[in-house]
Amino acid sequence: MNPKPILVVVGSSNTDLVVSVTQIPAPGQTVLGGALQTIPGGKGANQAVAAARLGGGVRFVARLGDDAYGALAREGFAREGLDTRFVFATPGVASGVALIAVDEKTGENSIVVAPGANACLSADDIALAAARAAFDGAAAVLVSLEIPDDAVFAAVEAGHARGIPVILNPAPARPLPAELLQKVTILTPNQSELTLLGGSEALLRAGVATLVTTLGAEGARLEQLGEVPQTFAAPAVTAVDTVAAGDCFTGALAVELAQGASLPDAIRFACAAAALKVTRPGAQPGLPYRAEVVARYNAPNA
Ligand code: AMP
Repeated sequence: MNPKPILVVVGSSNTDLVVSVTQIPAPGQTVLGGALQTIPGGKGANQAVAAARLGGGVRFVARLGDDAYGALAREGFAREGLDTRFVFATPGVASGVALIAVDEKTGENSIVVAPGANACLSADDIALAAARAAFDGAAAVLVSLEIPDDAVFAAVEAGHARGIPVILNPAPARPLPAELLQKVTILTPNQSELTLLGGSEALLRAGVATLVTTLGAEGARLEQLGEVPQTFAAPAVTAVDTVAAGDCFTGALAVELAQGASLPDAIRFACAAAALKVTRPGAQPGLPYRAEVVARYNAPNA
């Protein structure tokens, strides 16, 4: 394995407050559920932890509140070995929280996200992180969309201006201007995000260099302008929780590419890592370590 590549991950952090219920409550209804589970999540933090567990040296750029959930999240990041120098705190604002009811029979979710401090991450924060050398020596920049547009744009620009590959996970999807897409090296939507963004052809024509679409149990598809699309099968597993599968995929893809793997090999590794994730419950707790991915799937580029 090459020396630890440095990855800059810019995105959200949430605490998932999860209760399993026999029935998702209808409007006006109160239901009694099981025990409260407090689970670290948020797309940015999930991707950062995935990349770290898979062998990346991760600098996480994010905002927390100055509350107990923020303190818990920060402790978690430190335990995972993330570089937290660029995890800023906003006084008087709550840290991001997701309230999740899970139907214990069907596994269906009902989720309310209170973005809290995630909504305070700004272009100034990206500039501050950059001034403190967050992007120096980085092999990839990883950005997702649970943060404001100006932070997304600044993060993509920061990578692009330095010639660092930028991987944008467009989740949750919202329309993105061509000027932004042209600066993205790899876009990693899932199928519904791809549809919302106008489809493969429109994205490639808008200037996305490489499109890697995740297809759930079907794996992933690689598309580049003028090339024949290539599909990569997912390993067959029994899925128990697909939360953070896309985050795991994107984090794994970034680490592999940063280590010099080819795009097809990096996608195969990302499929293997994400398949392992879906066999385990929880967002961050279910993210696999490199040794597990390698041992179970004999994945390339170990
Ligand atoms: P999704 O966001 O649902 O497209 O999932 C992201 C990635 O997780 C996929 O590209 C697969 O590699 C993996 N994945 C998701 N669901 C499954 C599944 N049921 N079996 C195997 N892999 C899966």
